[in-house]
Formats: sequence, structure tokens, C-alpha cells
Amino acid sequence: TAKQQGRSRFCYFTPAMQESAENRLRLTNDLRYALADKQIWLAYQPIVELATGVIQKAEALIRWQHPTRGLISPAEFIPIAEDTGMIIEIGNWVFHQAAHQVALWRSKHCPNFQISINKSPAQFYSNSDSLIYWLDYLQQLDLSGDSILVEITEGLLLNASAMVSEKLLAFKDAGIQVSLDDFGTGYSSLSYLKKFDIDYLKIDQSFVSNLTANSTDLVLCEAMILMANKLGMKVIAEGIETAEQRDLLMQAGCDYGQGCLFSSPVSAEEFEKLFQAE
Ligand code: C2E
Ligand code: MG
Ligand code: MG
Ligand code: MG
Repeated sequence: TAKQQGRSRFCYFTPAMQESAENRLRLTNDLRYALADKQIWLAYQPIVELATGVIQKAEALIRWQHPTRGLISPAEFIPIAEDTGMIIEIGNWVFHQAAHQVALWRSKHCPNFQISINKSPAQFYSNSDSLIYWLDYLQQLDLSGDSILVEITEGLLLNASAMVSEKLLAFKDAGIQVSLDDFGTGYSSLSYLKKFDIDYLKIDQSFVSNLTANSTDLVLCEAMILMANKLGMKVIAEGIETAEQRDLLMQAGCDYGQGCLFSSPVSAEEFEKLFQAE
């Protein structure tokens, strides 16, 4: 009714907003115990060399199996972890898990295997995120720096502080490679590509999902691949779901692919079977 509508103009906090705020508060509290309670685990998605079809890397993707709500997407809880600072603890946990996993898979399956981990900007801004500690840990496991790839996003580079630049340089010194994730979605400025030494460019899945011959997205993918190669970067295409998309990307000179065509993200146990199937 008109009366209700009139009143609602002054009601800034709607029931839906209230519910989402309460939901967020609940998740924030639950997240504090999730790690210790072993509700959090890592899924792994293969990254395949397109020319050979060989799995050479895996991206570690975090999963939260909530006791009552079921599986919660990282898109929902990573922002909470970032806002509350819990991302530091979670990020270190991800690193430890990935390091153990890559040590095992290097010794059992593939001596040059790499595991790629996603790193939030908040981890770069924190003092307690200690690269020295990470490197020490790799050494304890007898791993070289190139066993881990770090995925960052364009936003981190756009207004990179001295601290961010120093940390990225320290990665390089340690042999840890860097990927630029979700490329093409963020910013039109490309000047940061000159400033930073990036090893891999990950074409965002939004360019891949509608990829067909003669599509605008194909032109954009070709341009990104050409640019990356000229700048000395390798390219990983995300979200490949069809053989047609894979073939078009391969013809365009894309080096690696990742997506449900090869495998969706799976548990470490399931991933072992992918090695065996090769
Ligand atoms: P991302 O790093 O861009 O990861 C790729 C996302 O695409 C993953 O979503 C993956 O499951 C999904 N994907 C893979 N293949 C396909 C496909 O063929 N089709 C489609 N439609 N999607 C595909 P997921 O696992 O839900 O992760 C979402 C985002 O959460 C990640 O995007 C990443 O930004 C973030 N994230 C995940 N794990 C971590 C973590 O350990 N730390 C941090 N800071 N962020 C993480
Ligand atoms: Mg990623
Ligand atoms: Mg991505
Ligand atoms: Mg993405």
C-alpha cells in the first residue's frame, strides 16, 4: 500500500539487510573455530599444459565445510577473513598445506610439479605474514622456491606500496613465481605490467566462457596472449569447459589451461587418481 511504501522510504535497514548482517556475524564467529575444528580443507584443480595434455600444476582452492550450513563458497567467507584479519592465519595454513602436498606429489609423481596458492592483498599489507618463515619452511621440506606459485590480482599492483613491491621482489629472489589472476577484469591501466616481474598471466574465465570462433572474446584472448608472450609471460586460461574453447586457446598460443573440461577442483585424494590416469 501507499502507506507502507511511504514508510519504507525511511526504513534504511530492510529485513533482508538485517538477515545478511546477522548471517555475516554468525559466519564471522564460526570462522574463528573452523580451522582448529578441521572444517577447512583445500581442493586442487589441475592446470594442464595444452600442447601435451599433461598436468603440470594445481591451483589450491579453499573450502569450508560448515557443520550446519554445508559447503560455503570462498567468495562468501574470504572477504570476511580479510576484514577481520583472520586471512593471515588462514593464508599461512593454506601455504603449509600446499607445501606438504607439493612435496608429496613432487616425490611421487612429477619432480617439477607446482602448486599455486591465492594470496589476498591483506596478506601483503600485514607484517605478520613472514616470507622468511615461509622460505624456511620450504627448506625444511627440501623444496625449492619454484614449487609454489603465488596468485595475486591486479588491484594489488595498481597502487602498490613500497612494502608490496619489496615483498614481490623477495618472492623473485627466492625463486617463487607469481601469477596475475583474473586478468582483464580489473583495470584498464596496464603500466604495472612493466613495473613488476610477473611469470604467468591468468586469463579470467569471463573471456573463456563464451569463446567461439569469430567471437569478440577470441580477439581479446588472442591480444592478451600476444601481449603476455611479448612481455615474457606464460598464459593460463581459466574456466575452460569445452573442447572448442581449449582448441581455440591452443591455436591462439595459450600455454596452459584450467577448467571443468579437465577436472573441477577435487580433494587431494581424488587428485591422485588424475595423476594415475595420465
Ligand atoms: P580464482 O582464484 O579465480 O579461482 C578460480 C575459480 O573458478 C574457482 O572458484 C574455481 O572453482 C572456478 N572454476 C574452475 N574451473 C571452472 C570452470 O570450468 N567453470 C567455472 N564456471 N568455474 C570454474 P572457487 O573455488 O569458488 O574460488 C573462488 C575464488 O575464491 C577464487 O577465484 C579466489 O579468488 C578465492 N580463493 C579460493 N581459495 C583461496 C585462498 O586459499 N585464499 C584466498 N585469498 N582466496 C581464495
Ligand atoms: Mg586463483
Ligand atoms: Mg582466477
Ligand atoms: Mg576468477
